[in-house]
Amino acid sequence: MNASLETPQVIILLGPPGAGKGTHAPKLSQHLQVPHISTGDLFRYHLKEKTTLGEIADKYIQKGELVPDDIVIDMVIDRLSESDCKNGCILDGFPRTTFQAVSLESKVTDKIIKAIYFKASDEILFERITGRLCCKECNAVYHKSFFPPKEQDICDKCQSTLFQRKDDTKEVLKKRLEVYHLQTDPLIHFYDKKNALTEINVENTNSLEDIFQDILFSLKETTLSPS
Ligand SMILES: [Zn+2]
Repeated sequence: MNASLETPQVIILLGPPGAGKGTHAPKLSQHLQVPHISTGDLFRYHLKEKTTLGEIADKYIQKGELVPDDIVIDMVIDRLSESDCKNGCILDGFPRTTFQAVSLESKVTDKIIKAIYFKASDEILFERITGRLCCKECNAVYHKSFFPPKEQDICDKCQSTLFQRKDDTKEVLKKRLEVYHLQTDPLIHFYDKKNALTEINVENTNSLEDIFQDILFSLKETTLSPS
C-alpha cells in the first residue's frame, strides 16, 4: 500500500557511500509516490537536451571545472517546479554544500524540508565495502563475512569467478570517506540545528525492512516548518 505525505516534503538523503541510500531511495519514491531526483540524472538530462542550463554547465565540464553552485541550484529548483513534485520529492546528491542548502531553503516555500541521515561508522563501512564480492556474469553481490558464496570465490547462481570491484579497496574508500565528511558533516550540522534532521542508524543488525520503517516513521514526525 502506498502512503502519501500530509504536507509536501522535500526529503534530502545524506549518508556515506555504502550506507544504503541507493537501496532505500527508489523504494521510498515508490512508496510515497513522489519522484526521486538525483543530480547525476539532472545533469545528464540537461546535457542531452542541450538546455540553456545544460550548455552553461557543459562549458565548465569541458574545461574540467566544477559546475558552479548557482547552475546546480537552478537545475534543482527548475525540476522542483514541475507538476510531479507538487506532493514532494526525494533529493539525492543535493545539497552538497551549506550554500546550496541555504539557497534551497530560500527558494522552496511551499514544502517542508527534511534531511534523513544514514548513519554508519567508517569502520563498519570499511568492513562492508571491502568485503564485497561481485559476479561479472549475473551481477550477484556477496560479502566475504556477511553473505559468503557457498564455494569460495565462486558465484552460487552461475558458477563464475567472483571479483572485487576496483573501487572497493581500502585506499579508494578512505579517499571517498574523507571527501564525504568534508562535504556532508556541515550539512548534518545545518539540518540538525533546524530540527530538520533524522538520524537512521544503519550499522546495527536491523533488517532493510526495519530501516525502511524507521525512515517512514521519521517522515511522519512533526518538524518545524522552514521559516
Ligand atoms: Zn553469477
